[in-house]
Amino acid sequence: MSELAERLESVRSAVGDAARQAGRDAADITTIVVTKFHPASVVRQLVELGVEDIGENRHQDAAPKAAELEGWDIRWHFVGQLQRKKARQVRAYASVIHSIDRESLVDALTAGDSGNAGVSGGGLSGDDRLECFIQVNLTDDPGRGGVAPAGLDPLVDRVLGTTGLELLGLMAVAPLGEEPRGAFSRLRTLSDRVRASEPTADKLSIGMSGDFREAILEGATHLRIGTAITGIRPERG
Ligand SMILES: *Cc1c(COP(=O)(O)O)cnc(C)c1O
Repeated sequence: MSELAERLESVRSAVGDAARQAGRDAADITTIVVTKFHPASVVRQLVELGVEDIGENRHQDAAPKAAELEGWDIRWHFVGQLQRKKARQVRAYASVIHSIDRESLVDALTAGDSGNAGVSGGGLSGDDRLECFIQVNLTDDPGRGGVAPAGLDPLVDRVLGTTGLELLGLMAVAPLGEEPRGAFSRLRTLSDRVRASEPTADKLSIGMSGDFREAILEGATHLRIGTAITGIRPERG
């Protein structure tokens, strides 16, 4: 077995163990393998090992990989900070965007879609809705990605009112220097509030290499795991 296959297997079994411990069905948890900095060949090996969900955090790295692997059965998840001017380009290959954190991004992602006030043309059908998460900033540092909890409600309403987007739920990164479970629990409380207005927006994109067990205990439905599966990331070239 390759080292990649071994690490993937060991994460899969750890996810299964944590799910059992939480009294949850592992089938309800999607593991996204984050391949940032790694070449398309690594993505190809992962797909050959049965991975269907791949995560990337920068458009300029993701776009060429998605192009090289066109025709492969891959769901691309965009998990990084998204620039407004890149939004439509990311939409061209991404199945899910995890990092909606401001209203201007909603506008940029859906510009040209039908059904949005003040915008004509497009003709987007219901099937073309882009799945997305709203990213919440769980730190006190406004420079971090994500909307502050205080700004969450209006952003939720904005996304729910946009025909081109389907809100899956909330995403967050656990703050450094804090026990991750407490932070994930705060996100879960916010998620309960979102679910009260939209019952289907009940997913949680939380959990990375160092904290996916805690995330599973707090209800994670989408794990974003990089190094625990891919090994140490190469230097950004
Ligand atoms: C890189 C990255 C991950 C994966 O991080 P690891 O610690 O390598 O598992 C998850 N989420 C986001 C947003 C990332 O940028």
